[in-house]
Order: sequence, then C-alpha cells, then structure tokens
Amino acid sequence: MYKILLLLISVNVLQAQPVPKSQKDHFVIQSVIGENTEYQTPYYILRSDTEYPKILIDACIHGDEVAGAYACDTVMKYINVYEGSVGFVPKVNIQAFNLKVRGVGVDLNQVFPGDKKGAMYEDRLASDFMDFVHDFNPDYVINLHEAWTKFDENMYQRQKDKSFGQTFITNSEKFSDFLVRANLNTNKYITSPELKFHIQYFPYKPNHSMDNIIEKLKIPSYTVETLRTLPLEDRIKYQVLCILTFIEESGVKFTYEQ
Ligand SMILES: [Zn+2]
Repeated sequence: MYKILLLLISVNVLQAQPVPKSQKDHFVIQSVIGENTEYQTPYYILRSDTEYPKILIDACIHGDEVAGAYACDTVMKYINVYEGSVGFVPKVNIQAFNLKVRGVGVDLNQVFPGDKKGAMYEDRLASDFMDFVHDFNPDYVINLHEAWTKFDENMYQRQKDKSFGQTFITNSEKFSDFLVRANLNTNKYITSPELKFHIQYFPYKPNHSMDNIIEKLKIPSYTVETLRTLPLEDRIKYQVLCILTFIEESGVKFTYEQ
C-alpha cells in the first residue's frame, strides 16, 4: 500500500526532465521512441527482479495537456517498484509539448494506428508508439489527458463523445472491475465532491490511441482526464494520485515516499 495525502504531494513543475534513478528495488531502462527522428522522445521502464505485472503510463499525446508529463516526472522520482514493471512515456508528442500546443501539423490522437511511411511525422510517431506498446506488452496502458469542461451528466447525455475533466474514460459500456476499483480508490483521497472522478463511456473512435491499443494490441487501456481550468499544481497532484492508484490496481508492488 502506498500512503499519500493529496495535499502533501509535492510536484516537479517546470524543471528540466529529471532522469529517474535506480532505487532500492528497481533499475531503470531508459531509451527513446523514434530514434534519430524529429519526434524522438524518451521512455523509462522501472523494473524489479520480476518483469510482471506491468503497466504503461503515457502523457502528452496532446502537447498542451501538460499535467500528466509533470506527474510522470514526480512519480518516477519517488516510487520504488519491488514487484513488476512500470513504463513511462511522459511526452509522447514532444514537439507539441515543447511548443505548448495540442498538435503541430495534425492532432496525433486522430491518426492512430499511424503509418510508417506517412507524410506527416504524426503518422510515423503513432506507428512507432504502437510498436513500442506492442513490444513492451504491458497488462494495462493508462493515457493521461486534460479537458476544459467539468463532467456534467446532462451535457454528457447530449454529447457522449465529448471529453470532460475529472474522468476516467473507457470505450466499453460495461465498466471493468479494474476501472471501478481504480475509480473508487482514487476518490477516497478526494474530499471535494465536485472534483471526484467519474467513469465516462466514450464511444469507439477508430483513430484514437486508446481504441487502437485495445483493438489491435488486445491490451486493456483507459484514459485519465484532469480538469484544465484548475491550477497546474492541483492538476499534477490529481494525475499523480491517478497514476499511483492505477499502478496499485495493476498488481505492481511499490512504495512511494517523498
Ligand atoms: Zn487530450
């Protein structure tokens, strides 16, 4: 069990990307996706003696949804994994992250599963990212995003394919036990009813990363959306909380101290 109090989580904001160090019980494998391309981006695998259970956390498929990237940095700094592996791709679309924009040429989340010979770098990046996920072969993939509108049941009933903040998104109308547990355990740490996370069913989109990971790679995948109107530090804290809860639900054993 990790012990956290939401308000006590300190966060790394606007610092240079720290390279996570090996800890007592895990070592770090560091490499890149898209080596020697204009979209080359780092990934980190924190691995104990046993490879599984295994979970992958990715952020910044949309470059201006930055809380997830900083949350990955924070978790990598303080976690000690003693059973299983946790992978992080903090800045999937690193060009968009550096420019603080959603996408550079095209929205990366509209071109999955990508195309190795695509004219746009986003096509090739999506394809390389899918290859990476396939090779890493995690039990779960969690995609970190942010949205501008707080979850609202009435608005959701009118428009199901709208992204809301403070949600866990699934493309299955039947919510998995894994997702329901993660949702309950996340909300235990959130006192304000307004800011608790909702599970949102989001209809299948053939070009989204999550749907391709589920359909093509047969790996369960969920999306976290924090509310972008909140201060950045709060959004990072919520993302850290969600990351830790999903890691715990995946069966990976770890301690978390700062
Ligand atoms: Zn997004």
